Amino acid sequence: TQYVYRFGGGVSDGGNGDKNLLGGKGANLDGMASIGLPVPPGFTISTEMCTRYYADGQAFPDELRAQVAAGIAHIEGVTAKRFGDAADPLLVSVRSGARVSMPGMMDTVLNLGLNDATVEGLAATSGDARFAWDSYRRFVQMYADVVLELDHGAFEEALEVAKEDRGIVLDTDMGADDWKALVGAYKKLVEEQWGKPFPQDVHDQLWGAVGAVFGSWQSERAKVYRRLNDIPASWGTAVNVQAMVFGNMGDTSATGVAFTRDPATGERAYYGEFLINAQGEDVVAGIRTPQYLTRAAREAANARPLSMEEAMPEVYAELARVFDLLETHYRDMQDIEFTVQQSKLWMLQTRSGKRTAKAALKIAVDMANEGLITREEAIARVDPMALDQLLHPTLDPSAPRDVLTKGLPASPGAASGEIVFDSDTAETRSALGAEVILVRVETSPEDIHGMHAARGILTARGGMTSHAAVVARGMGRPCVSGAGTLLIDAKAGTLKIGGRVLSAGDILTIDGATGEVMAGKVPTVQPELAGDFGILMGWADEVRRLKVRANAETPLDCQVARDFGAEGVGLCRTEHMFFEAGRITAVRQMILAEDEKGRRAALAKLLPEQRADFTEIFRIMAGLPVTIRLLDPPLHEFLPHAEAEFEEVAKSAEVDVATLKRRVGELHEFNPMLGHRGCRLGVTYPEIYEMQARAIFEAALAVAESSGEAPIPEIMIPLVATRRELELMKAVVDEAAKAVFAEKGASVEYLVGTMIELPRAALKAGEIAEVGEFFSFGTNDLTQTTLGVSRDDAGRFLTTYVEKGIYARDPFVTLDVEGVGELISLAAERGRATRAGIKLGICGEHGGDPASIAFCEATGLDYVSASPYRVPIARLAAAQAAL
Ligand code: PEP
Ligand code: MG
Repeated sequence: TQYVYRFGGGVSDGGNGDKNLLGGKGANLDGMASIGLPVPPGFTISTEMCTRYYADGQAFPDELRAQVAAGIAHIEGVTAKRFGDAADPLLVSVRSGARVSMPGMMDTVLNLGLNDATVEGLAATSGDARFAWDSYRRFVQMYADVVLELDHGAFEEALEVAKEDRGIVLDTDMGADDWKALVGAYKKLVEEQWGKPFPQDVHDQLWGAVGAVFGSWQSERAKVYRRLNDIPASWGTAVNVQAMVFGNMGDTSATGVAFTRDPATGERAYYGEFLINAQGEDVVAGIRTPQYLTRAAREAANARPLSMEEAMPEVYAELARVFDLLETHYRDMQDIEFTVQQSKLWMLQTRSGKRTAKAALKIAVDMANEGLITREEAIARVDPMALDQLLHPTLDPSAPRDVLTKGLPASPGAASGEIVFDSDTAETRSALGAEVILVRVETSPEDIHGMHAARGILTARGGMTSHAAVVARGMGRPCVSGAGTLLIDAKAGTLKIGGRVLSAGDILTIDGATGEVMAGKVPTVQPELAGDFGILMGWADEVRRLKVRANAETPLDCQVARDFGAEGVGLCRTEHMFFEAGRITAVRQMILAEDEKGRRAALAKLLPEQRADFTEIFRIMAGLPVTIRLLDPPLHEFLPHAEAEFEEVAKSAEVDVATLKRRVGELHEFNPMLGHRGCRLGVTYPEIYEMQARAIFEAALAVAESSGEAPIPEIMIPLVATRRELELMKAVVDEAAKAVFAEKGASVEYLVGTMIELPRAALKAGEIAEVGEFFSFGTNDLTQTTLGVSRDDAGRFLTTYVEKGIYARDPFVTLDVEGVGELISLAAERGRATRAGIKLGICGEHGGDPASIAFCEATGLDYVSASPYRVPIARLAAAQAAL
């Protein structure tokens, strides 16, 4: 089996890169080599090897050794240096590279190939002993940390001691002899902690590093990252071994990271940071403050240190040329790492850049307009769930702001929450429902879970490409980084900022668009949905087949939904109207009534209220279908259960406490989800559904008369299991219609249909469709009843189920296509067989979930219905499903 693929020096074994085989980094190194870009030569050990490594109990097969030897020979040939040669040594980097990028999650070793002999050779050939010993000490430290897993605190301490002894503050003031002495100290530390001397054989070094990279695939932090990002453990990582190039060989050398467009706004401008005389890790780690790439960016920020465009104009021009070539080749915005060694540019990495939702939209629309990609590709490029970032409120520009300090606008969006200083606390507090802002000096890959749990992230150190910034943008969390005036005392739980002292738990607001940090909670406003958002949504609407409706019952929700492009209401849960203050008393009187007469008296009070509700919804949704579901939940949900409330409720409902208690007792159910709810209420108390139907028809006639545009009510019966239930309920509705139409001397069109939310209803859909004029799949209940898992109690064990792979995702979030999905397909088929073209929709939570929407498209449903804020997400997901 071929496990090793060479690249560089005119070779590209991978044939422009297969990510699954070579990992993202390896595939793109190969891709860059194949289009002639300056890539240091190297080779990739495939992800297949990683899988085999774990299958074989973490051992390497013999055939790999020969292939790696050939890979090293390739690098030696291109560089004209030899691995382990004391006179002119080849040094390599060893890096991980999974199929999708997992920033900072896995291991890297640089400067590999240095030992007590080769360091002298490097000093001689580079003419720079200081550089050689500096590289050696970096290598020993990294190797001890990553491969030997020794305590890195001891190494940092040794460096501090060495500097103190010599009265030195900056690393750059350390000379060759100083570094040499430190290497000695490091080697002693290795021997003490590891029990063996630091490996001098360069091949031992290489195999140690390769094993460490494969090993890091199963590290705790990598596992957490995979879980959060749905990356299967079976993918494995590749290992890239590549000739070192040096950005730290003096002032004509540099290292940097860049994006071909602005990852925060999507603006078409090169964007990035670089450092003169430094190695790659220095930029990402945020230890030295990096310089801007372009003159324009430097001037905009009013910064002094020269930009790369000014400091190294020729190399910058070459870099800009490479950026354009990369965008044309990969047809996407690229995130790049480069190094300049003595004025020669080398590309170390390129990949599709992570971006905010706003940037994703702008880049997709711009690239389609530039002709780089098609409109269909533009639609496919934007993650529907990421739109969520744009749909939510931003800070009210007119609200007062108590600004404490300003950092870098690292990831847009606004967030308020209580201050927490560590990721574990962020996680526990947010699990309890608190909104938290994670405040750190800087973040590291160990903070992933805390960043995920937090509403926003604030750091004292780090630039726009620091770990915090990159990860926050990817997660869609607002982030302000590099707020230099923060003084964090995590032990004391305090934060000094702008001359004030705040404590853990105090409320802070951050604005990731401006970098402002404010005390207290700042009010927010609704976002604007024009511009690129509107354009992409327009393209999406052109290609999608599924209609998108909203689950909404209040006028506000209906208005938000319509503004977001909803094409009607797919589910109006009328019980939500029953809970409203001012009506609950009449509702309770209805429930507490001893007979039908009493119930009708109470219902008469509710009729005008319901009529007013429906009138308003019909007005807002003028010309669009509105599905109204008749009362669903069990009646005892409307009665008090706490002793303390009995007295007051009895008084307001004008019954005595004893009667109230008796009724509560009578209505008590052991399993209300499967109890006296849904159409079972209508079957036992038809007058309730009769009142609701009457209110709907009266409202529809009123709106038809006043606006001239008749609404199309679709009246929906919940929790139907049998044809007979629906038949009885439809008769109640039809009777009400007949009565109202006769009274008013006018009529409107309407439909009576049913929810399909019980397995029996799905199975008997053929019969049910003889009566029902439409079906709406209530997948919340259908999931609950098909899986036999209580939708209210599932949280306690479903995470374990998902972790153990019993269900791939939470089935209440993403439809269980295999099980519940089969029932839906079957019901759709049987329903259509009875009633050709029967209208089919879905109104469970799944109607707003992109993966479930893809299933709805495949099953040929007519529409999905989602909560108002999910409407744009559903529109885009429906378009993607149709592509
Ligand atoms: C459903 O069961 O999927 C549904 C939409 O109804 P509810 O969530 O109100 O039970
Ligand atoms: Mg339901």
